[in-house]
Amino acid sequence: MTSIQANLQAVKSRLARALHDSGRAPDDAVLMAVSKTWPAQCVREAAAAGQRVFGENYVQEGVAKIADVALPELEWHFIGPLQSNKTRLVAEHFDWVHSIERLKIAQRLSDQRGEARPPLQVCVQVNVSGEQSKSGIEPAHCLELAQAVARLPGLRLRGLMCIPEPVDDPVRQRARFAMLRELRDELVRGGLTLDTLSMGMSDDLELAIAEGSTMIRVGSAIFGARNNSGAQGE
Ligand SMILES: *Cc1c(COP(=O)(O)O)cnc(C)c1O
Repeated sequence: MTSIQANLQAVKSRLARALHDSGRAPDDAVLMAVSKTWPAQCVREAAAAGQRVFGENYVQEGVAKIADVALPELEWHFIGPLQSNKTRLVAEHFDWVHSIERLKIAQRLSDQRGEARPPLQVCVQVNVSGEQSKSGIEPAHCLELAQAVARLPGLRLRGLMCIPEPVDDPVRQRARFAMLRELRDELVRGGLTLDTLSMGMSDDLELAIAEGSTMIRVGSAIFGARNNSGAQGE
């Protein structure tokens, strides 16, 4: 067994235990393998171990990897910051986008997705860390953006996503995840149909699962520590 396959098994056991400890069903959350900065071969190894859902942060790197891996059974999620000049590539090559924080980007994605393809599955990214973070929409404006996104024909709004700035105190970290869950509940009361809470990474997946995460995004615990100097910016 390769180390990627062993790591994948270890993460799946952590996920299973966390779901069990929260009294949730074993299939209640999806594991996304975040393959940013790792070559196509690493994705193939994870795929050979049964992993189907992959996440990428950088548009060009992701699009090239999707073509290189060329396994139609895989599902590709875009989870990084998205500029308007890159929306077409994302609309044409990815299945999901988790990082919707502006209506203009959502409108472009919807137009560029076109009607021939199934709608792009999307989450609105929320800033749950206040002034410490610049990415994600403010919670107070989330309902308005989510309602507008839900009306776009090329997109299907699935839920909310957050990337809390890491804090040492697990109680505070967990409170951020709780904030996203409460916001989701508020949006559902506002009439939206949402089934996804995209939250939890290598270091905090248990806290996120305890607060209702339905999709954890795990990179380093599967593929190893990233060499950030090698990561390409957008
Ligand atoms: C890199 C990244 C992850 C994975 O982080 P790890 O700590 O390596 O598990 C998850 N979500 C987003 C948005 C990321 O950029």
